[in-house]
Amino acid sequence: MEKWPLGVFASIDAGLGVKLEIAHELGVPTIHLHAPQKATRTPHQAEQFLARLKELGITITAVFGGFEGESYADIPTTARTVGLVPPETRAARTREMKEIADFARLLGVDVAALHLGFIPHDPADPLYVEVVAVTRDIADHCKANRQRFHLETGQESADALLRFIAEVDRDNLFINFDPANMILYGSGEPIEALRKVGKFVRSVHCKDGKWAAKPGEQWGAEVPLGEGDVGMENFLRTLDEIGYDGPLTIEREIPQEPARQKEEIGQGMALLNELKAKIL
Ligand code: MG
Repeated sequence: MEKWPLGVFASIDAGLGVKLEIAHELGVPTIHLHAPQKATRTPHQAEQFLARLKELGITITAVFGGFEGESYADIPTTARTVGLVPPETRAARTREMKEIADFARLLGVDVAALHLGFIPHDPADPLYVEVVAVTRDIADHCKANRQRFHLETGQESADALLRFIAEVDRDNLFINFDPANMILYGSGEPIEALRKVGKFVRSVHCKDGKWAAKPGEQWGAEVPLGEGDVGMENFLRTLDEIGYDGPLTIEREIPQEPARQKEEIGQGMALLNELKAKIL
């Protein structure tokens, strides 16, 4: 594959990504797929889906887990509902994440990815220890599938994420770096963070955002690529610097406005192509 093929976050029947038809119309060669509903995660459906992707000329480079009951309404709600941190839903979600990794394997995809949720900051917190254990469990399941397990960035500072990865201590654990999340959650300047965690970055989201007035307390605002505070040229130059050559996967989370979503992703692709021509 060429360096930095474009991609888009897509979905079949669950999750926020664009529909496959839209990905095809936009002419993207790769997607990150939001895991479909349980009923869709069968060998038969996987076979049909793969045939369809082949027709459309699209390759899946990662499958992202997502769960019922997750809400990104505000920062406290996100902390309470997202990922594997909330204890009440952890066992069921862990089982489901393993099923999602198995579905990814049926699709021939060697990366399963996930927002773990808000990992406690204090490594002595019992919850921290539990999240380390569940991450090892899923990483080991992925390893048996010959897959990598990618953690979506956002809620943790670069230093906290490095400490967590060292604590989990699994050689198939890597990072999906989302620079906008660092801004939206107020967890640190994204370019500086990217340099710090660079050696673990094996996939990225090209997404942009603006800092909140009170970062970490309020959400920042997600905006079209190139219009926020990430600095896309600097982001791509830093990816080049750390030796990242995987897909540039655009994520634009405005599913309530599909027409605008498609237009903005198209503009994002034009921006990325322009920057690629300049940098590579
Ligand atoms: Mg993301």
